[in-house]
Amino acid sequence: MTQRVRLHAQIDNSRDACAVSAAEEETLFTADEFGRTKKWHKKIAKIAELECKKRILLEEKKALEAKALRGWTMMSRRQIFSLVVLGIVLTAFVVSVPSLFMDPLVSRILPPPTLDQETRLVSYLQEVQLYKNVFLAVHGYNHICPVCGSDGHELACRHGQVPIEEIQRRISSGLEIFKNNGLEVDSFAFPGQDYDERALSVLSSFGPVTSKYAQAGSRGVDLMVNSSLTDPVVYYGFKEYTWTWRDDVFEESFQAALTKLNRDKPPLILLHIQDITNQTLGLLEHAILQGSTRIIRCDDIAFDSDLQAARQVADLATKYDVDLILAVIPASKKASGSYTLDLVFKVVWTLSTGLFVFPIAVMIPWALIFMSKKRKPYAKWNPHYPTVSLILPAYNEEKTIGKSIERGLCQRYMGSLEVIAIDDGSTDRTFEIAKKYADRYANVRVIRYEENRGKSYALNTGFAQAKGEISVFSDTDSVLAPEAISRMVSHFRDPNVGMVAGMVVINNEKNLLTRLQQMEYLCSQSIMRFCQSSQRNVLVCPGACTAVRTDVARSIPSTDRTIAEDADFTFSVWKDGWKICQEPEAVSYTEAPENLKNLINQRKRWFYGSLQTIAIHKWAARKGNLWVIKAWLECFLSPFTLLCLVFLPLLYISLGPNLPVFLLTYGLLPFAILGISGGIGVRLFNRGEKSRLVLLMPLYAAYQLMLNLLLIYLVFAFVSRRGIRIERGGRIIHAI
Ligand SMILES: [Zn+2]
Ligand SMILES: [Zn+2]
Repeated sequence: MTQRVRLHAQIDNSRDACAVSAAEEETLFTADEFGRTKKWHKKIAKIAELECKKRILLEEKKALEAKALRGWTMMSRRQIFSLVVLGIVLTAFVVSVPSLFMDPLVSRILPPPTLDQETRLVSYLQEVQLYKNVFLAVHGYNHICPVCGSDGHELACRHGQVPIEEIQRRISSGLEIFKNNGLEVDSFAFPGQDYDERALSVLSSFGPVTSKYAQAGSRGVDLMVNSSLTDPVVYYGFKEYTWTWRDDVFEESFQAALTKLNRDKPPLILLHIQDITNQTLGLLEHAILQGSTRIIRCDDIAFDSDLQAARQVADLATKYDVDLILAVIPASKKASGSYTLDLVFKVVWTLSTGLFVFPIAVMIPWALIFMSKKRKPYAKWNPHYPTVSLILPAYNEEKTIGKSIERGLCQRYMGSLEVIAIDDGSTDRTFEIAKKYADRYANVRVIRYEENRGKSYALNTGFAQAKGEISVFSDTDSVLAPEAISRMVSHFRDPNVGMVAGMVVINNEKNLLTRLQQMEYLCSQSIMRFCQSSQRNVLVCPGACTAVRTDVARSIPSTDRTIAEDADFTFSVWKDGWKICQEPEAVSYTEAPENLKNLINQRKRWFYGSLQTIAIHKWAARKGNLWVIKAWLECFLSPFTLLCLVFLPLLYISLGPNLPVFLLTYGLLPFAILGISGGIGVRLFNRGEKSRLVLLMPLYAAYQLMLNLLLIYLVFAFVSRRGIRIERGGRIIHAI
């Protein structure tokens, strides 16, 4: 018997050895036991073999575990860098979509506004064409090249031939519009400097048109396209002195033009309606008084031209009896506006849209890649069941406390679990109800305060009382899905993980406001927080569903120095060197505010609390953490984005085109991007049943706008140290 014991002891001690030395064994047995020893020997060999297999399996398990851990949580620096580069490329593409594709497409599909719609301009033209020195010229059709899209020329292009039918169509439409508005065609003035024989021959095919200019032909008109249109002569020799004057005329440019004018003594002067200023008129007057100038041509008179300017030139021409040709664009898109405004529009568009698109362009591919990695269900094959304490702070929650406790008790969790309900000085039956459960179930406890002390205090009490290695805290207006705890706890298998965020989903999806919030919850958690989790760097673990190592929570107590204690708490745990993940399958169903007043109160707390948190934890930004920098930037860029949203359409319209065109080109894009990102956010994690929420996208944009307005107000209140007042747990809190 003793030998057997010794043998077993020896096997126990030699777990690392694959075989037990036979020689050693033999010395242990006496000769009469030799027969039995042989049998034992076989058994020992068998055990050793199994031990060996076990060791190999254990090693394999370890390797798999390490691999899964990497696959589960990590995104390498190089991957993130590539994602950022991809984001920049995608953003650049998206930002240039309207000008590259939409603008040309829309201007091709939509009929441009024509003279028919601008009665003021038409009646003015009808009036001035009666003057004997004023002539009207058709200036192309819409002054936009059908080949290259440029607004500098139309019927002849250096980049390719305009089809002959297109030229025909444009010339005839231009003439048609003039006729329909009772305007005489005195001439045809090609837009831009390029024209070719084909365009000229098409023009002549339209036959004679009555023309005042033909009658006045003796006055040096051979440099115009002959207005009879039967025998067109190319105009040339017009000199342009004011081309760059449309934004601002500087003294130097005026002096330079004057010098040139004195030197050239041009008989023909060309200028554009956009360039007419007092200086321009002065220059013209100077040229006329100089005695050389006989004809002035004023181009690009269009739909939205400054009539006052046209009047001033006409008056000047009449005063000195100089011929004036008004070249009118019949179907104008624009009278090629200010260069500065154009540049401002482009810069503002690129910045605001770029800032809006870039984070989405980085995070969506990021989330999708991480999602595909995450498919390995780490939790399933690697069970880990420490004792868990579920902490439920409650204030006046008589309606929900019972349900919350029950949901805690019904968790599908293999380890042991206790529920600690903390009644934070409720004035209703919260304590009574919780007490009933505590009396009935051994693993339910209730702690009661006589007065309301705030959530942080309640949580800290919970952490101090918790028997579990892991503490899970949740609100009493939230209920945990049956798998939530086991899902979250599985992450603590990694000794570096200190805290795990769950996924909060809205339960009361009853009205528009709660649906919009649902959209927001799903998107922000499945995209941004999910990406943060790939670096195990979640910034905010929600108070509605979070698991934390109890000893960590005890060493870093939750405080009420901010009004968003969950954010502050998460940052503190992170500061202590812990990794923080998110478990998107650990769902907590929560009640969202159903009216605007409550929503604003809630968001005031969240936003303002986040501002306080990032201000307290400045170290995080100094560390160069991208997520924190993003949070800082968002606070201060949101007013800019908002301003852009308002001023972009105004800028665009001031450049010429109208609002419907803006909405179809530039205006549509942000909605499309919001829609796509929202769709992806909703579809991730098999929550496809919420897909119809994507239909709310246009309203979602308005909702975001409203939240941004609130954020601006809060940033102002924060920076000015005015602080805010919010209602919480039956108390009014003034936060600074
Ligand atoms: Zn062109
Ligand atoms: Zn022109």
